[in-house]
Amino acid sequence: MSTEQVNLICPKCETQNALVISARKSNYKITCQKCNRDFGSRVVKIRAKNSRQDKRANLRDYSVRVIDFSGGEDLIQFRQSGIADFELRSGDIAAFNYHDNKLQIIQNLTIGRYLSLKSGCSSVTVMVVSLILLLIILSLCVLGKIGSDLSSRPNQAPKPTPDRSTPRTR
Ligand SMILES: [Zn+2]
Repeated sequence: MSTEQVNLICPKCETQNALVISARKSNYKITCQKCNRDFGSRVVKIRAKNSRQDKRANLRDYSVRVIDFSGGEDLIQFRQSGIADFELRSGDIAAFNYHDNKLQIIQNLTIGRYLSLKSGCSSVTVMVVSLILLLIILSLCVLGKIGSDLSSRPNQAPKPTPDRSTPRTR
């Protein structure tokens, strides 16, 4: 291939931006057609990928050896939240999209899939989930209290009353 059109995903709004890439250049600067933000993209060929999951932390670490179109080799390392494995096979063409010099989107252009590293999403999800859990626990406590109040009232309250109010000392 000498030139090829690819769709690069904006790290900010995840819109696809069509770009013609050349076989001898790997680094591109794109202005998103939708949100007008600039992002950097590095289009490379995958040489090898290693990934290691950490089930307890729910993370996966990748180290990917890539071949730059200018001829050099490089190692790109990143970490994703979640342990699902993102496919990057030897020979695949991939784009690494950066915003503010932070890697945010990895695209496998060969199979048309992408991985978003935006950590904001997952921490928000964790917060929402823990908030919901807290609410459930709180409502269970309240319900439990009401329940125990209801069950303790008829047992405790009426019993002493007949004993006291009907003193058979006449
Ligand atoms: Zn955008």
